[in-house]
Amino acid sequence: HGGNKKASTARVRVAVRLRPYMDKEEVNGKRLCVRGLDSQSLEIVNWRNQLETMHYQFDAFYGNDSTQREVYTGSVYPILSKLLIGQNASVFAYGPTGAGKTHTMQGSPGQPGIIPRAVRDLLQMARAASSTADDETWTYSITMSYVEIYQEKVMDLLEPKNKDLPIREDKDHNILIPGLTQKTINTFADFDEHFMLASQNRTVASTKLNDRSSRSHAVLLIKVQKNQQVVPYRQLTGKLYLIDLAGSEDNRRTGNQGIRLKESGAINSSLFTLSKVVDALNQGLPRIPYRDSKLTRLLQDSLGGSAHSVMITNIAPEEKYYFDTLTALNFAAKSKQI
Ligand code: ADP
Ligand code: MG
Repeated sequence: HGGNKKASTARVRVAVRLRPYMDKEEVNGKRLCVRGLDSQSLEIVNWRNQLETMHYQFDAFYGNDSTQREVYTGSVYPILSKLLIGQNASVFAYGPTGAGKTHTMQGSPGQPGIIPRAVRDLLQMARAASSTADDETWTYSITMSYVEIYQEKVMDLLEPKNKDLPIREDKDHNILIPGLTQKTINTFADFDEHFMLASQNRTVASTKLNDRSSRSHAVLLIKVQKNQQVVPYRQLTGKLYLIDLAGSEDNRRTGNQGIRLKESGAINSSLFTLSKVVDALNQGLPRIPYRDSKLTRLLQDSLGGSAHSVMITNIAPEEKYYFDTLTALNFAAKSKQI
């Protein structure tokens, strides 16, 4: 009983990316606490007690000189083809605020991150596959949705409605958000336009509430639909979630009070649930606590099971990040176990 389920449950791949020291002029005088060893491992030094130097190994380690292209090619590109055959996938950036999550996921116009690269390649793959179908005629359509999960509320970023959207499950165990805005993207320019607008909406919400963006999860959904153009008009849908998670730092330690403390409680609990889910998947446990948070409930059909998932843990080298880095690495290391 349950044996088949275990065997068919994919584990979550875990990568770690170390960002460069930010002020290159100063680097010689500074003590950096993280050092890469090879393409899979690193060590972290506690300068107050060097006996506490710890060694970690992951599926992939991207050092402080890694490029956007390397991270994308190594950890994300290989799963894109699965979307065209109706399978689901999710990519997370996890780690403390300031460690490089947004740089990794979104990047900048000069250094595009995972999101623009994946969208560009998916559009191209879909176009190529549509024109080479031989015995049956298939076409592909790609859509995007973008939500923010803040204090366990699911908010539409493409068309802000100022209400918490419900999460439902259909009879085939697909997770749906009724009422969520969905935009068709035929070209990269379509994507860019919607994504920029949604990012502006997120910024507006954020500045009203003191840097809410570092305390919320930004969840971009790219859906690839394969449509048969002749009878029986079959359809296959592959979903890709690209997620810039809330900062993993423990705000209780930095002394935030009142509403901020309540917020960090909500974030910590949804990140904590995510860690329990990833842990349960990688250990092959029979019960996966997806329902314990909005984020994991939303990801239920795209994390574990037949889905392909990768978590990129972003870390910073500076000493002041030491404790947050250690916490993030321990979470990642725990997630890594088979
Ligand atoms: P987070 O989203 O985790 O809070 P950011 O992505 O905003 O962190 O990164 C913090 C700062 O560090 C930004 O100015 C960003 O451009 C820079 N940065 C992060 N990672 C890298 C990297 N790999 N190379 C160069 N700059 C980086
Ligand atoms: Mg960020």
